Amino acid sequence: MKGGESARIDSHTVLFGVIGNPIRHSRSPIMMNRAFQETGINGVYTAFHIVGEQLADFVSGVRAMGIRGINVTIPHKLDIMPLLDEIDAGAQAIGAVNTIVNENGRLIGYNTDGIGYVRSLKEEAEPSLAGKRIVVLGAGGAARGIVYALTQEQPGRITIANRSVERAQELAKSFSSLADIEAISNETLKQACSEADIVINTTSVGMFPNVADTPVDASWLQPGAVASDLIYNPLKTAFLEQAERQGCRTHGGLGMFIYQGAFAFEYWTGQPAPALAMRETVLASF
Ligand code: NAP
Repeated sequence: MKGGESARIDSHTVLFGVIGNPIRHSRSPIMMNRAFQETGINGVYTAFHIVGEQLADFVSGVRAMGIRGINVTIPHKLDIMPLLDEIDAGAQAIGAVNTIVNENGRLIGYNTDGIGYVRSLKEEAEPSLAGKRIVVLGAGGAARGIVYALTQEQPGRITIANRSVERAQELAKSFSSLADIEAISNETLKQACSEADIVINTTSVGMFPNVADTPVDASWLQPGAVASDLIYNPLKTAFLEQAERQGCRTHGGLGMFIYQGAFAFEYWTGQPAPALAMRETVLASF
């Protein structure tokens, strides 16, 4: 797969891509092509607009064309699973796939969202999560991958709060054998935030265009705690701005995007991803 000149596309070029609906907003192609360029790998990564009815045909196409790697985004992360040959244990536990590796026609599904987030949190904000008290706000798809990945880090306790409490309870229950996890209602959220080492917003509250909204009152957090937000549009949410004024350390959502891609790149190529260059390219696109 090694290429000579970085921008060369020839009869050895290996294909990669991302599927979703919609997909034209995706920054994955610029990020991944930069990674190939940086590492001298003769690969090209494009975006495919695939609707639900085309999913099975698409998977046949991956096999027929020998496409080496695919990222999967909304709305296909669940429906793609029965079409693959093998699902990695982490992706199985989360119940969603965002990365496919084509091993000589055998398609293996992984989930790099949660581990990408945790790698970003550890590299950018909190090197060790062992023993930490972590509050997770939200219980949607992203929260599921993140909570699973957090359970692998020996946290002290994970506390989940969500607008719909049943979803928080369901999420806590599905990983309760892996760590100390509880679901709480909004009445006890203030207390939980004031005792937390890390508070993570996995809800869409604060995302463009509703940039003034915050998922919790950041003054509940203790100074020195980490406030983390999955949102990267805007790069610094109102929640992070407020938490910073409160004396908290802050961690934005761009790193999760970069590192979910970095893990995918590493699964496909067996080489360390050039994460700094990938981040530079994505940042320049804003
Ligand atoms: P999702 O499955 O639709 O879940 C949305 C979550 O937000 C649910 O917990 C929902 O609560 C909550 N929520 C939505 N509106 C709310 C409101 N007005 N008040 C309180 N809670 C509200 O979405 P997702 O895929 O998990 O994505 C969640 C966020 O993560 C989005 O902002 C997305 O952009 C971001 N994200 C970032 C990355 C990255 O690479 N950085 C990757 C994936 C996702 P209910 O259960 O009560 O509806």
